[in-house]
Amino acid sequence: MPDNNNDLTLSAPLSGPVLTLGNVPDDVFASGAMGDGIAIDPLNDCLHAPCAGVVIHVARTGHALTIRADNGAEVLLHVGIDTVELQGEGFALLVQQGARVSNGQPLVRFDLDRIARQCKSLVSLIILTNGEQFELRPVAVNAVKVGEALLRIVARQAGVVQPVMADTAEAHASASVRITHRGGLHARPAALIRKTAQGFSSLSQLHFAGKSASCASLIGLMGLGIGEQDEVQVTCRGQDCDAALQALVAALSLTTAEAVQAPVIAAARPVNREAGVLQGVCAAPGLVCGPLFRLNSIELPEDPRNHARHEQLQHLDSALEQVRGEIRNTLEHARQRQAVEEEEIFAAHLALLEDPTLLEAATAAIEHGSAATHAWRDAIQAQCAVLLGLGKPLFAERANDLRDLQQRVLRALLGEAWQFELPAGAIVVAHELTPSDLLQLSAQNAAGICMAEGGATSHVAILARGKDLPCVVALGSEVLAITQGQRVVLDAANGRLELNPDDARHAQVHQIRDAQKQRRQLQQAQAHAAASTLDGVGIEVAANVASSSEAQIAYDNGADGVGLLRTEFLFVDRRTAPDEQEQRQAYQAVMDAMGDKSVIIRTIDVGGDKQLDYLPLPAEANPVLGLRGIRMAQVRPELLDQQLRALLQVSPLQRCRILLPMVSEVDELLHIRQRLDELCAELQLTQRPELGVMIEVPAAALMAEQLAEHADFLSIGTNDLSQYTLAMDRDHAGLAARVDALHPALLRLIAQTCSGAAKHGRWVGVCGALASDPLATPVLVGLGVRELSVSPPQIAAIKDRVRHLDAAQCRQLSQALLNLSSAGAVRQACQHHWPLS
Ligand code: PEP
Ligand code: MG
Repeated sequence: MPDNNNDLTLSAPLSGPVLTLGNVPDDVFASGAMGDGIAIDPLNDCLHAPCAGVVIHVARTGHALTIRADNGAEVLLHVGIDTVELQGEGFALLVQQGARVSNGQPLVRFDLDRIARQCKSLVSLIILTNGEQFELRPVAVNAVKVGEALLRIVARQAGVVQPVMADTAEAHASASVRITHRGGLHARPAALIRKTAQGFSSLSQLHFAGKSASCASLIGLMGLGIGEQDEVQVTCRGQDCDAALQALVAALSLTTAEAVQAPVIAAARPVNREAGVLQGVCAAPGLVCGPLFRLNSIELPEDPRNHARHEQLQHLDSALEQVRGEIRNTLEHARQRQAVEEEEIFAAHLALLEDPTLLEAATAAIEHGSAATHAWRDAIQAQCAVLLGLGKPLFAERANDLRDLQQRVLRALLGEAWQFELPAGAIVVAHELTPSDLLQLSAQNAAGICMAEGGATSHVAILARGKDLPCVVALGSEVLAITQGQRVVLDAANGRLELNPDDARHAQVHQIRDAQKQRRQLQQAQAHAAASTLDGVGIEVAANVASSSEAQIAYDNGADGVGLLRTEFLFVDRRTAPDEQEQRQAYQAVMDAMGDKSVIIRTIDVGGDKQLDYLPLPAEANPVLGLRGIRMAQVRPELLDQQLRALLQVSPLQRCRILLPMVSEVDELLHIRQRLDELCAELQLTQRPELGVMIEVPAAALMAEQLAEHADFLSIGTNDLSQYTLAMDRDHAGLAARVDALHPALLRLIAQTCSGAAKHGRWVGVCGALASDPLATPVLVGLGVRELSVSPPQIAAIKDRVRHLDAAQCRQLSQALLNLSSAGAVRQACQHHWPLS
């Protein structure tokens, strides 16, 4: 019942002993990261409303719901700990999202026994989630019965953001930071901030120009309209506030890869006075011709606004769930293909889809009678207007990501498939396409893309480049007036759309395209054959994979083997470690996918910055210089033993080679070799798999000769070797262009590795990203590398490159490269000696 001044007393929703948050057996709740609150260890089996209000959120699994009280306080009621894992079993919801409830009304009935047996704890939470507006004063201390006074919610002084909860004296920290993200805090940087904040239990907020937003809300963050070089205030509240603040300040002052790589914004459309040509901006190069196909967006009819709330809420809920599922699939595929940008873009979409600002706006409109379709469209449009109103091009471009979600959810609500029948080789034209449109069009073999609007830095443009799909943006509205089916030429590299190509031009475009295609087909046709240089030096072109499905793709693309299986895939994103049996099966599946070819399996390389929930390791001041790779054997030997045992049980064992990451001295290798011998004896094996060492720290390269004495092979990890040689973080976006493995210092280490290995007759491979770079192939072959482990789509092109090289000439010319002054100079020389057409 509301008290004076909007204050409110909450009644007990359950009967049982009362606990303070600090005594709740869950780190997140206990830290106050979800908000301040209290807990009850329930003795009854029904959750009751602690006040009158509206149910603004119900967990799909029925274990939690949030009520907005009439004074605006939002109270999360969460039954038990980790009860989400019951997937709704044992919970009977008695109310629906959007329902108005009275104080004491039964909300959820639950199976007390089942939760006690199957979950971590029955202790249930009552959390105030908008603590910046209210604070809590406990009333009950020992035990309560349903309906008895439990807590008082007191409104804070209007307009004051209070970073510290008055009665808990919670730790807080704040700092000012200047934003260096090119274009300001738009979707992807905002997603990075959100992700960074999620790594801590503290509640974090950004404050700018008199407004504040929680770092948990993408829309909220973008809505602040923070531009490049703007100064913002960051506040963090909670146990780990200092660490959270430090991480957020670093993330806010980062220069993004996007910013470095794609500075062009199609703000102004270039003028082209050539008759019959529309001029736009190149977003992805390529030359194509074909019939023009116009794509229109979904238009909704007038809304009578007299719909049944519950029904519409349910529609929206299931449409959102459907789209979430679709995006998760896209993410999974992107992950498998290591399409990092695609993954980032759709991860941001997923975050946007869960954004409380959008969901609340749509829910509120539905509560006022709107159809789910219109409510969703309007919620999106309102946020688009905010972004467009900021007057900053990059923010305006991100409105397109919101429109993407608008279209997707509308399609799901209307039960429409993405139903366009594209004519073969169509050049698609639209006002502005969305990222998911682009994926669909690419899957339907569109030949090219033209947009009236859009920018070269948009997500659509990034995706088009990744898909090799010629794309021109900012062509102006004239492009929408072209007759459907008209034959056009898209010369994307030059931003031109030729409206009336004659037959000669048409034929010329076809000729150029055919020559390119033929070359690719030729490479593909020979992808399964072994590759040797012109003077007969055999080079194995293997693949880097991270799962059996990727191994299958590699095999189909002609891989001579797996040069690096990153086994981390088995260990991350889960709550418990995979046991020996599960590991054995996973490794065997990769072996099976590769026919009779060899598979190099690297032992787990976690630790440092890659932490596992079930493997707590001490926090590191310098994670990449800490307990990672083989150094884990030092602290968790049983984990490595288990993996080695699983590896020793794959068959046939002679096809399996074991690779050790981050080795820096011979003893590490000798120790594992001895352990392998002992395990082989235990398992009564007479065979030993080959054992190799990754050369990814300078010490290992310098010690290659000593390592090669005891190793069967060496495999150079140029990603880490660059990082440690150049003292540049391999993931530092601002240094991305300079972390170049063609640096002469790296080449010297590679040369030393090869000569050290040769002294003991061992072969050397490269499994870092340099192996996939065709410009580097002649240098690596020249320095003595005999195996290149590349990303699966690159196999055919790298084999083709090898076949056109003379190894003796490579040897001679690459020696001179060691004396050059920079990676840039090496690249230039490579292009000169071995041009890439
Ligand atoms: C490397 O460091 O080059 C390498 C292949 O290992 P990862 O990229 O998995 O660290
Ligand atoms: Mg590495």
